[in-house]
Amino acid sequence: MKNINDLWARAAEVLASSMSQVSFDVWIKTLVPLCAVNKKLILVTPSISSQVLINKNYIETIRSAVLRFSGLFPDANSQTAFPEIDGVEIVTDAQKDEFILPADFDGAAIAAALEKREDDSSVFVPKYTFENFVEAPSNDFVLAAAVAVAKNPGGRHNPLFIHGGVGLGKTHLMHAIGNYIREHFPSMKVVCVPTEKFTNELIDSIRNNRDSRDFREKYRTADVLMLDDVQFLSGKSGTQDAVFHTFNDLHQAGKQIILTSDKPPKEIALLEERLSSRFAWGLTGNIQPPDHETRVAILKKKALQEKYNVDPVVINFIADKIDSNVREMEGLLSRVIFYSTLVGKPADSLALANEALKDYIDNKSDSVNAGDIIDACCNFFRVGKADITGKKKNREIVEPRQIAIYLITEMLSLPLVSIGQLFGGRDHTTVMHARDKISEKIKSDPKTKATVVNIRTYISDVKKALV
Ligand code: ADP
Ligand code: MG
Repeated sequence: MKNINDLWARAAEVLASSMSQVSFDVWIKTLVPLCAVNKKLILVTPSISSQVLINKNYIETIRSAVLRFSGLFPDANSQTAFPEIDGVEIVTDAQKDEFILPADFDGAAIAAALEKREDDSSVFVPKYTFENFVEAPSNDFVLAAAVAVAKNPGGRHNPLFIHGGVGLGKTHLMHAIGNYIREHFPSMKVVCVPTEKFTNELIDSIRNNRDSRDFREKYRTADVLMLDDVQFLSGKSGTQDAVFHTFNDLHQAGKQIILTSDKPPKEIALLEERLSSRFAWGLTGNIQPPDHETRVAILKKKALQEKYNVDPVVINFIADKIDSNVREMEGLLSRVIFYSTLVGKPADSLALANEALKDYIDNKSDSVNAGDIIDACCNFFRVGKADITGKKKNREIVEPRQIAIYLITEMLSLPLVSIGQLFGGRDHTTVMHARDKISEKIKSDPKTKATVVNIRTYISDVKKALV
């Protein structure tokens, strides 16, 4: 059982880095691993509607994250590998009892994990604060409006409607208001949900009468209601109706409403007029893509937050690559930081940034080269590049060298002679010998196998992180 929890924890780390924080918090974090049956990992989700939504939008991403760890040894010292998994199934709390559970199943632990899953509608991403938001001509109007609303919820600007393109900071500002109110008006009830989740909860409440009271209670008793990405109301008349009534109740009672969308209210397709007009009653503000100077400022702030020293040359390089989506730009920065720690070199040169981002920029996400493999082995075994490719014959160097050669022959289709050249002009028969030695050792020695598998995962992690 422990193995399954660990495997899921590893997969969740991968997922956290490959989707937006809010999507991760809402859909992935609430999953609890139940068991593995017939090579399938069973994950429990709270409701049917979240099961449907996860199956529709995230199941493939989840599956590939889990498969990366299938059958692997958690680390070089482990005696037991993760179970072999080739699929993932999402079940609801109610369905989970249909599974015949393995002998070592820890029912109490699962019950505790399920219990712990609180309603996350009032949880704000801690780093999404006003202090961490870089003010710029592209966003200063909206920022001022957001601060005004945070200081005086239910005041003059009601509703506050923020619109703008993907990754420009709408959710960040909404959570910044939430974090501010949480600190300064702790008794206020703030409810913040992505529109898709609101829709799901409504569907669940219609299915089941008890939830229906919970649903009303949750939304109509809010002092501040935040609905993120209301463009997803498009064409959903049932949800629009629920939003309409909730809006009226709250607005009349002087409660604050905050909405975000990728377009202004009137441009949302298939949105009833009674809603689009209400959405525009208060203050509507637009976030524009940041200019170069702002992009540089955002990157500097982010590097500072990560406590990582990134040279201005590298910051500028990244700011030049992406001109609209801040989330993508942050992704590039994370990749550079990740790469720089992996190869153990400071993030201070264009060469390093280019190397770290070359697949991203060339759009060849999974091309690995011999340098990547050598770097990964050096870093894994903590040996220098000059040593691994040099003449030394001591054991601490020879085995890493042989493993690097083995991996290059396995992962790339390079002629043996060229591989010999990479390793200080060695003969191709030496290359063959190294390759065969490791390939034999993998069969007989689980530790060597785990080591090789871990380095491969390591290499592909760097690559995947760059996608
Ligand atoms: P949206 O909701 O508009 O798609 P997000 O609010 O999720 O975008 O923002 C994407 C990322 O960009 C977040 O990590 C956010 O912190 C960051 N970001 C966007 N604009 C700024 C800014 N002006 N200052 C600091 N970070 C920003
Ligand atoms: Mg958003």
